[in-house]
Amino acid sequence: MERIDVGIIGCGPAGLQAAIHSARKKATTTVFGKGKSSAIYPAHLENYAGLPGKTDGSAFIEAAIAQAESFGAAFVGENVIGASVAEGGFALTVESGRTYLCASVVIATGNSRVKLGVPGEKEFFGKGVSYCASCDCNFYKGRTVAVVGCESEAAASAELMTSYASKVYWICPGVEASKEMEAKALAAGAEMVASKVKEIHGGDRVAGLSLADGREIAVDGVFIELGAKSAADIAMDLDVMPNMDDSIPVDGDCMAAPGVFACGDVTGKPWQVAKAVGQGCVAGMAAADYAKGRADVLQ
Ligand SMILES: Cc1cc2nc3c(=O)[nH]c(=O)nc-3n(C[C@H](O)[C@H](O)[C@H](O)COP(=O)(O)OP(=O)(O)OC[C@H]3O[C@@H](n4cnc5c(N)ncnc54)[C@H](O)[C@@H]3O)c2cc1C
Repeated sequence: MERIDVGIIGCGPAGLQAAIHSARKKATTTVFGKGKSSAIYPAHLENYAGLPGKTDGSAFIEAAIAQAESFGAAFVGENVIGASVAEGGFALTVESGRTYLCASVVIATGNSRVKLGVPGEKEFFGKGVSYCASCDCNFYKGRTVAVVGCESEAAASAELMTSYASKVYWICPGVEASKEMEAKALAAGAEMVASKVKEIHGGDRVAGLSLADGREIAVDGVFIELGAKSAADIAMDLDVMPNMDDSIPVDGDCMAAPGVFACGDVTGKPWQVAKAVGQGCVAGMAAADYAKGRADVLQ
């Protein structure tokens, strides 16, 4: 079993910033996961300080990987499929079966948006299909959009989108959001459509929706807001109890439990690169300090 000081699960902005700060503190640091799976990789970044205009998400991630490598971080391009509390730290097992003993762990697994599972969803992701209204609202000024979902997340997004889009359909067969949130979204001008999405269609980009009740709606964008599922299982394997929404609660040092840190989307909203990077810095430094205090793992 390979021994390392800091094991970082997740190769997005949070994990990469944690790696940079951990490695610069001279802790042996390994990042597990695939940069191409970061939420920002296929997207554009346009609200990050110092990067005006649209920055290609893939270029952003690739540059951060190279930067972390230059400071000594190692990369294992495999997902963590097993985690446990072990003698002297935490054991992380990856897809190939190798296991690493880490003095401390940073969970930076992001937030896997719950999928709708209809034809067109995957094909039009990034071409009109979005899982984050607060990220992409600006692209739909004066356009027609649909927000899909029935819980508070969808209600808040429908309300938000009325400030940008000229027309907002809120597709929901039965509201589960609070009465207050529902009322706010409707008062703001969202039009409730009590049906389910059957298919998302278009050409180069989204052009419309086919609904289960046979209706066709022309839209330029579809926001799928079905809540978010995080890496709650990994957290529980490391003796961390997630919040009810599966996000991981952390303290001011981004610590969730002794030796276990978390940063980025996995800790909850806002789901933004700037927050992920800020928490990554804190978690990376704290995890390195924690590991260095574990004399039983450090040689
Ligand atoms: C279309 C779109 C547009 C966006 N636009 C913006 C924007 O303009 N500005 C902005 O600030 N934010 C934007 N965001 C949000 C931004 O992408 C996220 O806030 C940010 O990527 C969060 O970083 P993270 O490191 O926490 O998570 P992620 O970037 O999602 O990275 C998490 C990583 O962990 C990996 N992982 C998960 N489970 C495991 C496991 N078991 N083992 C190993 N690795 C694992 C994932 O594969 C992924 O690589 C956008 C998001 C989307 C989807």
